[in-house]
Amino acid sequence: MITSQSESLFTRAQKSIPGGVNSPVRAFRSVGGKPLFIRRAWEAWLEDEDGNRYLDFINSWGPMILGHANSMIEEAIREALPASFSFGAPTVKEIEMAELICSMVPSVEMVRMVNSGTEATMAAIRLARGFTDREKIIKFEGCFHGHGDSFLIAAGSGVATLGIPGTPGVTKGTANDTLTAPFNDLPAVEALLLANSGNVAALIVEPVAGNMGLVLPQPGYLEGLRKLCDAHGALLIFDEVMTGFRLAPGGVQEITGVLPDLTTLGKIIGGGLPVGAYGGKREIMEHVAPLGPIYQSGTLSGNPLAMAAGLAMLRHLKSNPSIYASLESAGKHLAEGLRQTDKELGLNHCITQLGSMYTYFFTDREVLNFEDAKSCDTARFGAYFREMLNEGIYLAPSQFESLFFSTSLTTDLQDMFLSAHKKALKKVMVS
Ligand SMILES: *Cc1c(COP(=O)(O)O)cnc(C)c1O
Repeated sequence: MITSQSESLFTRAQKSIPGGVNSPVRAFRSVGGKPLFIRRAWEAWLEDEDGNRYLDFINSWGPMILGHANSMIEEAIREALPASFSFGAPTVKEIEMAELICSMVPSVEMVRMVNSGTEATMAAIRLARGFTDREKIIKFEGCFHGHGDSFLIAAGSGVATLGIPGTPGVTKGTANDTLTAPFNDLPAVEALLLANSGNVAALIVEPVAGNMGLVLPQPGYLEGLRKLCDAHGALLIFDEVMTGFRLAPGGVQEITGVLPDLTTLGKIIGGGLPVGAYGGKREIMEHVAPLGPIYQSGTLSGNPLAMAAGLAMLRHLKSNPSIYASLESAGKHLAEGLRQTDKELGLNHCITQLGSMYTYFFTDREVLNFEDAKSCDTARFGAYFREMLNEGIYLAPSQFESLFFSTSLTTDLQDMFLSAHKKALKKVMVS
């Protein structure tokens, strides 16, 4: 595989962009190697600047659930274009978007659009603090909620991948207001709530964690968090930026029936354009300015092109719920294939899967929290990642990420992936 174009672009990029990338997770630092520069994508495929083609298991880190360059979304953007690109004034599309989200996500009665998942989570905890008149929040080790100061403590995703210690750039005061507990451990949360009685504004959690690799909540865990929040007067925030519209039209809260007070959304909600949102109970959302005193704003929030793309995406998902059953059966097929290969090679690695998300962990330990995830052989993962790339499979360049696939991943492509996996795994497990 020749990647000389990407290599020279990377050299050039590093001169004007820190690390040559506009988001750290795009760098190939932890797996050894240099990032590929992508020039186009369609359906399940990516093409780099050298013309190499890859089967994509990142899908823009979640948004492209219908595959790349989906014609229906393209058409929606095209239709919106001639009316100009931004007004900074209310539009019909924003009402349609808000109504659609409220109709799809069970706990959301009112919603505010923003431009990214990071903005959504920052606004949600400000709202929780203003509403409860309390200062502390609880987050979970290995969960990632974007790059807001309060969330960089024991964070997953790129923070975990790069092994960034502590939180340089975050004030001690802010860091002290974030309490952390291991995922899937209710007694630890209860102990924090008791020790900080009357001071915890909210718990924020990825109800299915995807930023330390895919880690599923144990039975009763989310119900337990709901009960603890109610008992201690703290709000429960589900960060469904990744899982919203990915695991079900209404996210994990639809699947489990556990309803949070506030929900943060992003990724799929913009159909590939930059969009985020936060919403929840009316009595809480009514505290957001201009209705209430808690300030949050955005020049480009509700941008008409982004709303057009997002509306097309969400309308399609809402009217075709069978998509989720087929994604789940594809996911099952992949997970079974991975387990079968493990069996043949005498391996017993931890494999997690839910719908169109999965992680192949290089550890025999059952992964229930960040400590377990950290037991992975990341050097071996790096070797596997590079072998897969050689086989034309583009994975997230980190062990601590969930992988995503789209409706474009046909049965043939699933099997192509599985045979590449077997070949790559054979090579890296003997070395
Ligand atoms: C991706 C992600 C975010 C951050 O969203 P951005 O749009 O990258 O700011 C927040 N929370 C979760 C759970 C995410 O997966």
